[in-house]
Order: sequence, then C-alpha cells, then structure tokens
Amino acid sequence: MISNPLHDGIGEAFSSPFSFFAIERHPPIRRYHRHLRVMDRRRTSDHLRIVGHAIAATENASWRSSMSLSVQNLDRSKGAESLRGSKAPCEVIPETSSAPYFAFEHGGFEISIISDGYLEIPEEIFTPEVAPRQRSEVLARMETVGRTVHVPANIPVLRYRDELILFDVGGGDKYQATDGRFFQNLQAAGFDPNAVTKIVFTHAHPDHTGATLASDGSLAFPNATYFVGAGEWDYWMDPDFFSKAPEAIHDFGRGAQRDIGAVRERAVMLKPGDDVIPGIRAIDTAGHTPGHLSFELAGEGGLIIAVDAATSEIVAVEHPDWHFGYDTIPELAVRNRRRLLDRASTDKTKLLGFHWTYPGLGFVEVHGNAYRYVPIA
Ligand SMILES: [Zn+2]
Repeated sequence: MISNPLHDGIGEAFSSPFSFFAIERHPPIRRYHRHLRVMDRRRTSDHLRIVGHAIAATENASWRSSMSLSVQNLDRSKGAESLRGSKAPCEVIPETSSAPYFAFEHGGFEISIISDGYLEIPEEIFTPEVAPRQRSEVLARMETVGRTVHVPANIPVLRYRDELILFDVGGGDKYQATDGRFFQNLQAAGFDPNAVTKIVFTHAHPDHTGATLASDGSLAFPNATYFVGAGEWDYWMDPDFFSKAPEAIHDFGRGAQRDIGAVRERAVMLKPGDDVIPGIRAIDTAGHTPGHLSFELAGEGGLIIAVDAATSEIVAVEHPDWHFGYDTIPELAVRNRRRLLDRASTDKTKLLGFHWTYPGLGFVEVHGNAYRYVPIA
C-alpha cells in the first residue's frame, strides 16, 4: 500500500513488545507516521502493523532497546485501543515486565533515562507570541494531535557508587493522564524506589514533583534526601504566594506547596554553584521558574542536565528568544536559555533535555542567530 524503505522486504512479523508512545518518538518512524497520517488517518491498526515491521527492520540497536520503555502508555492512549482491537503482530506486555531503556556512562556516572510518559500541551503555550503561519511551520515538526502538542517527559536516573539519584520524579497521579509512568517504569528498569538516596528537584512544576507523594499520601521514595533550589523554595512556599502570583499559576502553586512542602523535614537547599555530591553542580537557569536549576556533571566533554531551561529541542533551541507560555519570568528565561545554549555550543557540552524526544541527549550547534539540536542517541 505505501512504499517505504523501512517496510519493504520485511517478511517477518514484528513480535517484540513495544510502546506506541516510544514508537512515535523514533525519528524515522515519526516521519513515516506523519506520512501515514496524511495517507489515511483512519487506518490506525494498519499503521501500527506497518510501524511494527518498520521497527523490526531498524538496525539502530540503542533505539530498539528503548522501544518498550513506556508500555504503560498503551493503557490510556488511543493507540492502545486500536492496537488491542487489531490483528497487528504486536503484543502488550505486562506493566511489571523488565522494559529496556536508554542508558549511558559519563564521568563515572551511570545515567539511565526513564520515561514518565508524555504531556499534552496546548500549542499556544509553546508559541504564544508567534504568527500563525510561523507557528504551524514549527509545530509541523512536532508530535501534535489537533491543537495539542505531545511532549515527552524523561527523567535522568544517576547511579554513582552507593548513590542512586533522581532528577525530578514526574507527575505521578497529580498531573495529566498521560504522564505519571515513572514510578512503574523505574521498577521495570530494575531500580528499587526504596534504594533512591537523593532526589534533586530542578523546579517545582507538577510534571516534575507531582509524584513526590504516593496516592496514599506517603512519600513515594521514603529513604531519599531531597534537594530544592533555595530560590524555588522561597518563591512557591512564600506565605503570600497566592496574593502575589497571577491566578493562572495558582494550581501550580498548590501543587508545589503540597509536593516540596511534604519533604520540608528532609530538604537540603541548593544555590547555583552548590554541589549535590562532588561532580554534580547546580547552575542558575532561572526564568522558567524563579529558582529553576540545571545541573552540570563532571567528566570529559561535560554534560548538563538542562531540564526546562529549553523545553523543546525544536522550539526552544531553534528559537531561544520565543517566550514559552509556562515560563514564569519570560525575559529571564530567554537570557538564561541563550547563555546555556551559547555555552553548550561553544564548549561542545552534551545536553540532556527533560522534554526532548527520547532519550533527549545531544549537542547543540550554532545555526544562524540561534542553534540546532544534534541528537546523540
Ligand atoms: Zn517540565
């Protein structure tokens, strides 16, 4: 029906478990998917079957190993329903299965990227001040459904000697229906939540701290010490927050007070320049939130866990001056985003983006008056 080099000549049925969500993030599949959508929007089961074959043919081992990362997403995504009802040569694996995921080593740190699922963000949040034509040009390169952008949420998990360190915990059951998969995915990847020694909150937005408390109100990671930016704490925990902050972020404020307030007794305040442990240093990327921190890891070539200093490898990297609708102090966010991207491109430092296409590890290079993302994995 549709000729595609990934599909042609593949006789073997694709029988490995995989995630609809993860498939969507595979660059060749994303392009293929877009092509299919144009061809026939209704034939989702055919689409999945073909995509399954395409992935079976993919020789990129690192991608193949990350395919089944977010299997839980099958449960609530529309793709899952059509998959279950189809005769597609694919299977849904149980949530407790050990799912492969992307991991790499940097400077002695073993870093695993564990998905929390994805967020559904209205397109105007990404491009609030951009003319419709330019907006649609940019959004055409992102995963969109209607006027909603599907945005991955990927959490770095670091193992170093006796330490098991998380950079944020995801949305849990407190934010969107499409995120909150981290806790299960972490266990599926073989990590014990009780063995987590440190949790670093990069900022207190709900997609980053919502899973602090389990649904029964207990701490999901009961043995961890929690690191919070002092500026972030002061902003959200201000007794006058609700009279000072715009009403549009009052929900975020309630979530932040619930989540970081829950770890008050075991919180360590961080300032830019402070180390979580030797080799993991906080750097100032305020603007997305007033106390937003990124983290620089020691090791050859450098690696910065950028988090939400650049929320999209397309919009924020290629258009760093565009305001992002969830940036609390937009002009400060632009300055710090440019500073980070300038430094990373000059020094050829690797970046990890929280909301970038899985696994979100790559370089940026100067492109005109802005930058361009070059994924490593
Ligand atoms: Zn975020």
